[in-house]
Amino acid sequence: MVFFFATAGIMFQDITTLLLDPKAFKDTIDLFVERYKGKNISVVAGIEARGFIFGPPIALAIGAKFVPLRKPKKLPGKVISQEYILEYGRDCLEMHVGAVEPGERALVVDDLIATGGTLCAAMDLLERVGAEVVECACVIELPELKGRERLNGKPLYVLVEYV
Ligand code: 5GP
Repeated sequence: MVFFFATAGIMFQDITTLLLDPKAFKDTIDLFVERYKGKNISVVAGIEARGFIFGPPIALAIGAKFVPLRKPKKLPGKVISQEYILEYGRDCLEMHVGAVEPGERALVVDDLIATGGTLCAAMDLLERVGAEVVECACVIELPELKGRERLNGKPLYVLVEYV
């Protein structure tokens, strides 16, 4: 993995080198698929942008639909929005109205959890439309930022802790 500074003083963990190794990328997806297949999950919600890399292959493999949670003004249809605070500023996620029905079982996918604000916003969107968030799944956790503690007890599954 490669690290660089996204903003002064903020170290950024880059997952694109993982994607250059087809076996490592496939093994990553397979670990998630192994965990979530047969769990009656109908929605994989992927967070822009790197949740769009890991979410769709998981969704296809477990027979779920993929729903993109996007940054503001990117989705063409009617949306619901959720603001949140990042390690380096504020942001907002949007989801198409009607993409997820009440009672659906959802998995939230992203590349990395830092402070947990992004996953919280994603869960809020899904729960506001009546879905049940079964779990959040990330490739990397930065445990020092204690994001897991912000998830209100919602289970989080990660493949790698980076300390
Ligand atoms: P959080 O809301 O947990 O503080 O930040 C997580 C979100 O920001 C994720 O969508 C993730 O993609 C992005 N992010 C924050 N820090 C990093 C980082 O160091 N590396 C990568 N790849 N993404 C990060």
